[in-house]
Order: sequence, then structure tokens, then C-alpha cells
Amino acid sequence: MKTRHVCVVGAGVVGLSSAVCIQEQLPDVHVTLVADKFSPHTTSDGSGGFWCPHDLGNTPEALIRKWGKETLDYILSLIKSSDAAVVQAQMLSGYMMSSSVQEEPDYKDLCFGYRLMTSEELKDFPNMKWGYFYTTVQIDVKPYMQWLMRRFKERGGRVEVQTVSSIDQLSKHCDVIVNCCGLRGGILGCDKEVYPIRGQVMRVVAPWIKHFYICLDEGSETYFIPGTTNIVIGGTEQVNRWDEEVDENDHQRIWKRAVRCIPSIQHAKIVTRWVGLRPARSTVRLEAERKNNSVWIVHNYGHGGSGVTLHWGCAQHAASLVGDCLRKLESTSRL
Ligand SMILES: Cc1cc2nc3c(=O)[nH]c(=O)nc-3n(C[C@H](O)[C@H](O)[C@H](O)COP(=O)(O)OP(=O)(O)OC[C@H]3O[C@@H](n4cnc5c(N)ncnc54)[C@H](O)[C@@H]3O)c2cc1C
Repeated sequence: MKTRHVCVVGAGVVGLSSAVCIQEQLPDVHVTLVADKFSPHTTSDGSGGFWCPHDLGNTPEALIRKWGKETLDYILSLIKSSDAAVVQAQMLSGYMMSSSVQEEPDYKDLCFGYRLMTSEELKDFPNMKWGYFYTTVQIDVKPYMQWLMRRFKERGGRVEVQTVSSIDQLSKHCDVIVNCCGLRGGILGCDKEVYPIRGQVMRVVAPWIKHFYICLDEGSETYFIPGTTNIVIGGTEQVNRWDEEVDENDHQRIWKRAVRCIPSIQHAKIVTRWVGLRPARSTVRLEAERKNNSVWIVHNYGHGGSGVTLHWGCAQHAASLVGDCLRKLESTSRL
């Protein structure tokens, strides 16, 4: 049988995990990872790494649950494995609160120990009227992506630094192209539905904060996500805003809200400030498409604010689509 070549475009958490899953599901296939930005310079690197499905447009609930549960189980297995210290993943408990009563989340049965907050607990947060407590998982995305890259190279994966401006640029060298280009996924996918949701955050050192806190107050969301070395405090959710510079006004607003929610945070040391653009779309695009009756493309982009939350489930699905495409190519080449 002819050796088959697959090219994954994009080296964020979605592309890297897709490349690793393809190698694991299809061990005879040669996989090349092509991107113009690698860790630590991707959007994925700045993410809070918090498992919580959101900003996914109209992506069907059944798919969010499937991909989300597969990713949750996979991160839990990493936490229990000997690699936990390297990938820096942890179980994390905390509070989601609001100044008004909200609907309970669809994923409450997937997390652990979900319960509504008591009035006694709410007294500690004077602006908050309602909330729930649960345990989820969190992963520090930078060390995790470095670990994924090592895993990819150890299995013989090749890496190329290149900006791909069209499918034709790659179609001569590979049988299947996997489009994991995040916010630029629509360029290779000929799709105008991708748009940014701008997120500005800061990372602080505040080792006394051991829980996550998410506070919804008058339409704005303030969150505290402790990683293994620092805490991400955010943020903004600015739809269709493209600038990636830190905005001083946004910073002051986030800081003011954060101090109002957790007063002790005023003693924290701010170590970095960062802006990233979430790759939003009406739905996550995860499907195979044949171009000009020749090369197959598997699209895997548009994960909005949940790229980490869904990445492993989506990567497994993308790898199985690549397998389907290769089998179709095999059967047509025999005709
Ligand atoms: C402030 C903030 C906080 C977040 N927190 C969380 C969180 O706690 N949990 C969570 O689940 N999600 C979170 N997210 C969302 C998450 O970061 C994204 O959904 C995720 O990073 C998308 O990953 P990706 O691999 O698709 O894209 P990216 O990380 O943007 O990677 C895209 C890759 O494609 C490459 N590329 C694109 N076009 C081309 C081209 N033409 N040629 C070559 N290479 C190309 C880039 O170089 C890059 O390597 C957060 C996002 C932000 C902004």
C-alpha cells in the first residue's frame, strides 16, 4: 500500500492534538505540522486552560457534551498519570456566581460535586445573589503544548514553519490536509463565518487563592482561574474587536471588578497582561470536504472560548475523519 501523507495546518492546541491523534489512530501515515506561529505565540498559550464549555454559538449540545466529556476524561487521565507534573493539569473546585438568578449549566452532570451555593456562602460576596459550586479540571496550556509537541516528534512527526495561503500550496505533497487555523480557519476553509471575541486578561501571583471564581455582574464577567504557578484574571468578551494590544481602560475596568469581587486580590502582584482573539463561529466546524475532486480537507476550527475544553474530543473526531478520507482514496485508487 502507498505511504500516505497528512498535513496539519495550525500548531495551537487544536492542531497539535489533532496531529498527535492522527499518529495514534493511523500509525502508518506520515504527519507534518505546518504553522506560522508555534507555542508560546499562539492564542492557545494565553488561555486559562479551564474546562468550561462556552462561546460555542449554535454548536449542537450533543456534540459539545460528547467532545467536552472526552476531553474532560482525557485530562483526568493525565492528572492521574505519571505525566501530571510535566503537563501541569489539576482538578479545580470553585464558584460560579451571579447578581441575578441564571439557568443551571447543561454540563452540570459532567462535573463533580455540583450543588447550588447556600445563602451562608453567598454572604461573602455582597453583590452576588445566586451561584453554584463544582469541581472541574484545568491545564496549564504552555507546558501541555510543549509536551504534546515532544510526543508528536517522538513518533516521527515533522514540523515546518510556513504561512499557507491556499490549499494548492500543500495539495501536491499530501493526501489529506487538516485545517486547524483557529481564527484564520475561514481563509483555508473559504468560509466567512469566523469572527473574533477579544479577551484581555492579566496573570497575577496570589497563592492564597485556591479556588476558581466566576462573577457575573451587570452583564460583565470577572473570573479568577488558578493555574499551577499563577492566576488568570479576566476579562473581556468583545465581539468582532480585532486589536491585540493591551487596552489600559479595559485593564482598569477588569481590575476594579476583580477587587470588588475578591478584595484581597488588591495585594496580588501582576506579572503579565495579555490579549487574545477567541476564534468564534456560528458552530464549531469539524467535517471533511473534497476539493476539486482531488485532495481531502478535514476542517477543525471555530472553537470560540472552548478550544481547550473540547480539543481532545475534536482531535479524536478529526483523526477518524482523516482515516475515512484515506480509505476513500484507497478504494478509488484501486478502481
Ligand atoms: C483570554 C482568553 C482566555 C481563554 N480561556 C480559555 C479557557 O480557559 N478554556 C478554554 O477551553 N478556552 C479558552 N480560550 C479559548 C481558546 O484559547 C481557543 O479556543 C483556542 O486557543 C483555539 O485554539 P486553536 O488551536 O484553534 O487556535 P490558535 O491557538 O490560535 O492556533 C492557530 C494556529 O494556526 C496557525 N495558522 C493560522 N493560519 C495559518 C496559515 N494560513 N498558515 C500557517 N499557519 C496558520 C497559527 O500560526 C497557529 O499555530 C480562551 C481564549 C482567550 C482569548
